[in-house]
Amino acid sequence: MVTTPTRTAGALDPRALRGDFPLLGRQVDGRPLVYLDSAATSQKPRAVIDAEVAFLTTENAAVHRGAHTLAAEATELYEDARATVAGFVGASPEQLVWTSGATAALNLIAYSIGNATLGRGAPASARFALAPGDEIVVTESEHHANLVPWQELAARTGAVLRHIRVHDDGTIDLDAAASVIGERTRILAFTHVSNVLGIVNPVEDLVALARDVGALTVLDACQSAPHLPLDLPLLGVDLAVFSGHKMLGPYGIGGLYGRSDVLEALPPFLTGGSMITKVTLDRTDYLPPPQRFEAGTQPVSQAIALAAAVRYLDAVGMDAVHDHERALEQRLREGLRSIDGVRMLGDAAEGGARRQTGGAGRSPAEIDRVGLAAFDLDGVHAHDVGQYLDSRGIAVRVGHHCAAPLHARFGLTASVRASTALYNTVDEVDLFLDTLTEVRPFFGVSA
Ligand code: PMP
Repeated sequence: MVTTPTRTAGALDPRALRGDFPLLGRQVDGRPLVYLDSAATSQKPRAVIDAEVAFLTTENAAVHRGAHTLAAEATELYEDARATVAGFVGASPEQLVWTSGATAALNLIAYSIGNATLGRGAPASARFALAPGDEIVVTESEHHANLVPWQELAARTGAVLRHIRVHDDGTIDLDAAASVIGERTRILAFTHVSNVLGIVNPVEDLVALARDVGALTVLDACQSAPHLPLDLPLLGVDLAVFSGHKMLGPYGIGGLYGRSDVLEALPPFLTGGSMITKVTLDRTDYLPPPQRFEAGTQPVSQAIALAAAVRYLDAVGMDAVHDHERALEQRLREGLRSIDGVRMLGDAAEGGARRQTGGAGRSPAEIDRVGLAAFDLDGVHAHDVGQYLDSRGIAVRVGHHCAAPLHARFGLTASVRASTALYNTVDEVDLFLDTLTEVRPFFGVSA
């Protein structure tokens, strides 16, 4: 099994890495594919595909159950995978719960807190119980996955959902955060990196505000885990989620990280087999975390393949990944700024946003980002832009990217998003920019 990426020493060489990603060699309509949609889902290196196939070919069995050799081997590989992926985010194995993805992990947290509110947990879970009028705080830049579960929890418990606004440049308004987060705040849920703005949010500042009032912090690390070195315990968050398929791994697997005392006190969400110590017809005792949150037959081959993905990322080096993508992002943004009719979301310093209401938070040089940009092209609908680019072999995402409130804040209903990963080259970004200059003339929109 190949687990080491093809790489050159020092800085990341995307041309060398690309050979590890079979799909990147394909063509679309006779043109080489330019894949700029990694924020939706990443492509997978051969090492990940091989790891899943190898498990299914030689060790496949349900874990934590059978007494046979295969079951023992599968369980060992599965728990090794947990240790590997936990280590990738700075955590210990018992702090990592497998979920089917980030959406599932966020719902797990919200429903578990709902269960605590109903008194369905051990006495320690009372600390999470919500009372009517308690507040759950999110930011304006959340993906729907980190918004809708909190709306539902608020509706079930009588809690109030509040939000922190973002500046025109897309940065979080920390003054607004300081006034929104208060004595009634019980949960602060926010994204590490917005899937539309690409901005790395100031986790430590927000965690400090939440700590001052004893609120639980929940971090959506979906768009940071694939692109930055990540140490969740160091960031000080109580809970965090990430999605395997965005970080070179397979579908159907994701992670919930929790501080040990938090996971130990949370009641389960899904219940059933594999998460119990004792069941009678009347009542059940539950296993400690992480198994308490892993009811049913688990995504074993996916967990093992996700471990292969993080080994791959580790071997490349997350600092090198971030540096490379940062360079792509700067080229992308500079190029987009120079194209007539382009307005980027969260680029107020350059007059980007259509609706300018909130000033700039940080100087552009101070803003750390991952390699993505979302924009509106004046006079051409985002879907038409996407189709034109696709006709040239370039894959981007169009729509609201599951962040409709953020689009509304910038006066838009849809945008075009180009997002990069470690395997993208400067030439691909340049080709995307050149092709974009053809779009308005093609649709007869004059400058
Ligand atoms: N949060 C963010 C910031 C995301 O970008 C996504 C995926 N687009 C999610 C949450 C949800 O991840 P998944 O659909 O893989 O559960």
